[in-house]
Amino acid sequence: MQLTERTRIRNHPERAVPEETEAILSQGLVAHLGFIEDGVPFVIPFTYHYDSATPDLIYLHGSIRSRALEHMATGAPVCITVTLTDGLVYSRKAKNHSVNYRSVTVFGTAREITDEREKFELFDRMVQRYFPGRTVGEDYNAPPSADLGVTALVEVTIDEGNAKARRGNPTGPDDDKPEAAGSAGVIDLREP
Ligand SMILES: Cc1cc2nc3c(=O)[nH]c(=O)nc-3n(C[C@H](O)[C@H](O)[C@H](O)COP(=O)(O)OP(=O)(O)OC[C@H]3O[C@@H](n4cnc5c(N)ncnc54)[C@H](O)[C@@H]3O)c2cc1C
Repeated sequence: MQLTERTRIRNHPERAVPEETEAILSQGLVAHLGFIEDGVPFVIPFTYHYDSATPDLIYLHGSIRSRALEHMATGAPVCITVTLTDGLVYSRKAKNHSVNYRSVTVFGTAREITDEREKFELFDRMVQRYFPGRTVGEDYNAPPSADLGVTALVEVTIDEGNAKARRGNPTGPDDDKPEAAGSAGVIDLREP
């Protein structure tokens, strides 16, 4: 993935983890889609499909009446963010309360996928990403043409992006001193 001045991480550049982009996008469940329509910025949450075998592509779907998807289908530029919240970090110093996270922000443009077979296959793969082991024809019925017809699917080609992560303990001046007043630590939010 391309990394440019627009995607250079300025605050805590040592937390840049572009090599983790694919892993974060593979693990994430919610994508926040940002776009500008008539000069007004919108950020809308979506489920999404991502496969590290095609690392430059993200898929979003929804009603054919979805304004966001209609807008994307015009090829307008979009920004997508995916965040994994790994922990809540508490410190003896107010300023050093923080969050352990891994997140990705990418920029790209979209095209609508209208081919019924392609839509079916991508929806099937998306179900398997969210519900591993769920098999079409066994665990759920294949979607009829009518359902595929009223569901829009857009493919975002990622032009550039970056990933950032904060890990570890609080970094306040007294946080590594158990004898100091107050308390410090991390509440782990990661799945076991
Ligand atoms: C975790 C999560 C996953 C979702 N996944 C999908 C998905 O895969 N596909 C899908 O089509 N929809 C999904 N949704 C719903 C999605 O966020 C939109 O609400 C939906 O696409 C309807 O868009 P719209 O075109 O009707 O509204 P828009 O025209 O896009 O929005 C109109 C206005 O409604 C408000 N609005 C819209 N959505 C929300 C929201 N979620 N929360 C608060 N205010 C909102 C905003 O003010 C917005 O400006 C998801 C929502 C969540 C929270």
